[in-house]
Amino acid sequence: MGFETLMGDEAIALGALHAGLSAAFAYPGTPSTEIMEYYQDHAAREGDIVAQWCANEKTAYESALGASYAGRRVMVSMKHVGLNVAADPFVNSALVKIKGGLVVVVADDPGMHSSQDEQDSRALAEFARVPCFEPSDQQEAYDMTRKAFEVSERHSCPVLVRITTRLAHSRAVVELGSRLPQNPVQKAADRWGWTLMPHSARGLWRDLLAKYELLRAEAEAEAVIEAGSSEVGVITTGLAREYYLENAGEMAAKPTWLHIGRYPMPYAKIRELCGRVKKVIVIEEGNPLVERNLRGILERGPAIEGKESGAIPLTGELTPDNIRPALGLPPRAGQACRDIVPAKRPPQLCQGCPHIDSYAFLKEALAGYPQRSVNSDIGCYTLGAMAPYDAIETVVEMGASVGMARGAAAAGLTPAVAVVGDSTFYHSGLPNLIDAVSHKTNMTLLVLDNDTTGMTGAQPTIIPGKRLKDIAVACGVDPAHIHVVDAHKKDHAANVEIMKRELAYEGVSVVIAVRACIEALKKARKA
Ligand code: SF4
Repeated sequence: MGFETLMGDEAIALGALHAGLSAAFAYPGTPSTEIMEYYQDHAAREGDIVAQWCANEKTAYESALGASYAGRRVMVSMKHVGLNVAADPFVNSALVKIKGGLVVVVADDPGMHSSQDEQDSRALAEFARVPCFEPSDQQEAYDMTRKAFEVSERHSCPVLVRITTRLAHSRAVVELGSRLPQNPVQKAADRWGWTLMPHSARGLWRDLLAKYELLRAEAEAEAVIEAGSSEVGVITTGLAREYYLENAGEMAAKPTWLHIGRYPMPYAKIRELCGRVKKVIVIEEGNPLVERNLRGILERGPAIEGKESGAIPLTGELTPDNIRPALGLPPRAGQACRDIVPAKRPPQLCQGCPHIDSYAFLKEALAGYPQRSVNSDIGCYTLGAMAPYDAIETVVEMGASVGMARGAAAAGLTPAVAVVGDSTFYHSGLPNLIDAVSHKTNMTLLVLDNDTTGMTGAQPTIIPGKRLKDIAVACGVDPAHIHVVDAHKKDHAANVEIMKRELAYEGVSVVIAVRACIEALKKARKA
């Protein structure tokens, strides 16, 4: 009870804790990382919940499923691209008879502040037929998370809570409720509700389709149309409500307005709004999901304006300013400042970062190989693509470096190199190494082992880096072609020689460049 000033991530974490959370699982990823950090601080103080980082989002999701099966309320959190990694358990778990409330928090990153794409998790929720809540502020983040557990248990389904960077990382005062007790351990009694074999899954699929319409009816009941002009209607979703309200007072006539905070989409309310006005403006963060549905569900009706029509920018984050033209409002007076061009501040590796020395020996060893392929991955070392390093050529998604190096080698590029951090290697590089060994691929894997997940704030790596050599041996790499080197300037010449030798080797070789992340050291000293 009482009030606290909370970031959106913290409001979600506390909402779940107050809803009787017993366990939380996650893989770090901006902008969702702070949720697990909140739980780990809490667990260290109180010791009354399980709070664990996992090898990747799929393993985190599966751990959460197990806790739900045991009857406990559980949360799994990740960033938007993490949901791609967890897509298999996410989509299939929509069919099982969830026992303890299972809430999946996914933080999307429109504007790509720290991500490789702008995908919208509402689309995956719709695809899987998983209900979704989309809070518009920190208070709703707290309240909706609490409610999500209740919906999850009442309908026996996972519930997705979708937020975006701006909400995840901004603070506001939140009124808190009381903390509910945790569920007792009591495993699901309906075994065929958890065993997806064709004969059981067919029935569960039919149940899910029926359940989804019940969930839509609940969304209909909660969606309210605020009466206004018969000329213009506005539909907002999630955080876009705040941007709209910041501008609405300046509009000549108050539009008729529908806000959507939960999905499945309230089709009847949308049809009702569209029947009352001549033009509808859809303001939503991410993909034009509602707008596209609107075009599909209306047989005839008003003109529809939004991201698809070009009235609202299709890429980047929404702001109170960039939705003004769609609302028929002029730019705000005094906001243009053409004379000042802010200096560009591209992200950079920290001074003294071990990756700088690793890239130095890699580049020198690669000199003279015009047909090389240097594939990298997601982490601080992604910045090796930028000047002055210019050391890597591809970055696509978690773990892709190892698979792409394998494919490039199979296609004839020599030498083929994968550069991956220790945490990302455990996340999803490992199965690719097994492929490489099994097909005797001609490639070199360079693992940058700084013993932390540096980019997201120095969370501990799931297994200490000193186990990497054993893991490579267990995968079948010849021990004579596994080297653990010190990623330091003083060892530059020796490291160049080792790298050159392994680039020339025909088979899978592994070089593990070890040196601690500066930020992790600072954090450890502070702790
Ligand atoms: S946080 Fe660590 S790994 Fe990342 S750039 Fe800084 S020193 Fe390097």
